Amino acid sequence: MCLVNGLLIAVHGWAEPVANSAHHGVILQYHHIATDTPASTSLSPKVFRQHLEILKTEGYHVWGLPELVTALRAEQAVPDRVVVITFDDAYDDIATTAAPLLNEFGYPFTVFVSTDFVDRKQHGYMTWDQLRALQAQDVTLANHTRSHLHLLRRDEGLSDRDWLQALRREIDGAEQRIKAETGQNWRYFAYPYGEADAAIIDALQDWGYLGFGQQSGALDKRLLESGMAPRFPFNEHYRELADFRVKASSLPLPVVQETFPGWVFAEAVIPELRLQLADHKGQLTCFASGQGPIKVLSKPQHVYVIKAPKPVAVGRSRYNCTLPVAGEAGRFHWYSRMWIRKRDDGSWYPEP
Ligand SMILES: [Zn+2]
Repeated sequence: MCLVNGLLIAVHGWAEPVANSAHHGVILQYHHIATDTPASTSLSPKVFRQHLEILKTEGYHVWGLPELVTALRAEQAVPDRVVVITFDDAYDDIATTAAPLLNEFGYPFTVFVSTDFVDRKQHGYMTWDQLRALQAQDVTLANHTRSHLHLLRRDEGLSDRDWLQALRREIDGAEQRIKAETGQNWRYFAYPYGEADAAIIDALQDWGYLGFGQQSGALDKRLLESGMAPRFPFNEHYRELADFRVKASSLPLPVVQETFPGWVFAEAVIPELRLQLADHKGQLTCFASGQGPIKVLSKPQHVYVIKAPKPVAVGRSRYNCTLPVAGEAGRFHWYSRMWIRKRDDGSWYPEP
């Protein structure tokens, strides 16, 4: 009897192995799940369902953001292929379209909320009742400022100090509204438009927030605590499932040192990125938005200097770098940096 029980237990244990051997994860970023909203911030329900099916059938573990944050910060090993699903802005199609799909798959998710739009009952946004109702299915409600302002576009005439105080009112104000309406209080913050500079990142950290960006890449403890944790954005311009598979299965680049992540550059229209990597095999390949592959200069001690041949475009652009994962065909270490270039006269470009 004991032997039979022992055998049954052993078989059960063998049937569902969970090898906790990784120290990384991937965060997916969506806005709308709809077909009648702007393509640059929307993914169709059909493709979104395909993402969820890939996660379910191809060996992924979909975790809530707090679980991944807690594990990475504590340096606990996690299973390989942990993925977190996030939505920015709290659009109402998340409640009506995405949430029922996520419920069907039993997946937790996070919504970064800009609270003024919810407070104003603005058309197209969730209500507090809808956000509270989502909590029945393991949703994390987090901070995306009160008014979804550009953190880099300082009001004329404000000093550095006054501007940081104004930002603090935006960010603490949103945190307080979310707490008052839902009881949630994580101090997880997604930068509107993925924008910040070194001073803002430092201030956020002083105020006790974890910052999440919109530059692509996988996540480890160092990147989580960098103040600008990467997330892979998905929309109708990035809807190929092969692209989704590469991103969802990616690993962080083993960066030891990098050019300081102050996200704006004023002087250099061709930003120079320097990365020092840990010992690794394979070749680092980098691309610049609109320019294709760019030259990577290799120096001693795994230092790489990455610089586009031409100026980056006015607005937001990126360098993306990948390195093949040794011994795993089709998997890559993935690292990205966002560059924000003002117009040549120093003024801000209009948002599309
Ligand atoms: Zn947003």
